Amino acid sequence: MRNWGDQSQDQALIHRRGFLEVGAGVAAAGAVMGSTQLAGAQAVAGKKASEKLLTKRTLGRTGVEVSMLNLGTWKSVGLDRILRFSWANGIRYVDTAKSYGSEPAIGRWLQSDSSIRKQLFLVTKDHPGTPSEMLKKLDERLAALQTDYVDLIFIHALGDHDVNTEMEWPTSKEFKETAEAIRKSGKAKFVGFSTHHLRRPEILQAAAKGGFVDAIMLQNNPWMAQEDAMNRALDACHKAGIGLISMKQVAGNVKLADIAARLPELKEKKLTPYQGLLHAIWTDERFSSCCVSMRNTDQVRENVAAARTFSPLTKAQMDALRDATIAAGPTLCSGCDGRCSVAAGTTAELGNLTRFLTYHDHHGYRGEARRLYAEMHETARDWKGADLEAARHACPSKLDFASLLPRADQILG
Ligand code: SF4
Repeated sequence: MRNWGDQSQDQALIHRRGFLEVGAGVAAAGAVMGSTQLAGAQAVAGKKASEKLLTKRTLGRTGVEVSMLNLGTWKSVGLDRILRFSWANGIRYVDTAKSYGSEPAIGRWLQSDSSIRKQLFLVTKDHPGTPSEMLKKLDERLAALQTDYVDLIFIHALGDHDVNTEMEWPTSKEFKETAEAIRKSGKAKFVGFSTHHLRRPEILQAAAKGGFVDAIMLQNNPWMAQEDAMNRALDACHKAGIGLISMKQVAGNVKLADIAARLPELKEKKLTPYQGLLHAIWTDERFSSCCVSMRNTDQVRENVAAARTFSPLTKAQMDALRDATIAAGPTLCSGCDGRCSVAAGTTAELGNLTRFLTYHDHHGYRGEARRLYAEMHETARDWKGADLEAARHACPSKLDFASLLPRADQILG
């Protein structure tokens, strides 16, 4: 059997216990206090945790140190408490966007304690129609967040609206001048974009060539990052000094319990499958931070513990985790270049169909899954006649399209 970890179990236990002691105190405080008292709980817990900030990494050529784990706030419920709990547990990087609906809660939190803003790396995003529109969008974001500046502003989901046009932005004069104007204004220290488009490798290569973007947040998993085109693109950005942030890393598998059953070495090392996945991502030092949406205090505890116990994985450990992930029968497209549809000889967007089905079945976003499916063009939904076995063979996550797609038709159609 492969030996999962070279990290001392005792060391992991000590770190875990140390963390749990702090975390349990904060949880207990939160349970007995009303929301107006949470700021006080944060101050107390913050003092305890002030010497326990999460490890930071340098964000590319910006030279700024950022928490290796950052709090994603997409569709957050109970965010007031999660923000304070994350802060008390050493996270100093929060990610938001106009479309997340989380900016008002973050604004209230910033107003509750003026010392937070100075220590926080705050990132938001918006969708401009053209790069220069970001100047106006940034003002709107600052108003929503009740702050004078953010640390980093992203163009949100570059490539999603018109990939051929937006592909040119990272090398365009307009975006370059806009980024310079934003940095000069002091309203955002740094400028970049997020992307989960299938053509990410090309978009990243364009950013490396343009050379003026400070940071990129991209959909990633540790195996995709090793694939040729993505590996080269990540190398190019890293070499150009662009800070890289990983996101949506759970995409590709949501059956974490199955992974745990297939990889007992994780349990021996006191790691959950998700913690193992985070360790795999942090093993790639090109990434400065990993964005994770944390919706309850247990998730914050689990992910913070992962950061505190991190040590790089060996190649054999990475491979073992990948094999267990695939063997567990992933259901969700991890967003490569769409090779499944090409291999299947279809215009149907097989990756998106499985993605929306997973939103429905595993993430609880039933209405949104149906809406997204309804918005697809008919040819993107029609997979009849596709060679699904060829698609499965081509897919890095080995999705079982033959069982997933009929269910997508039935549930979402
Ligand atoms: S091959 Fe797999 S990971 Fe790539 S787009 Fe298709 S379903 Fe997604």
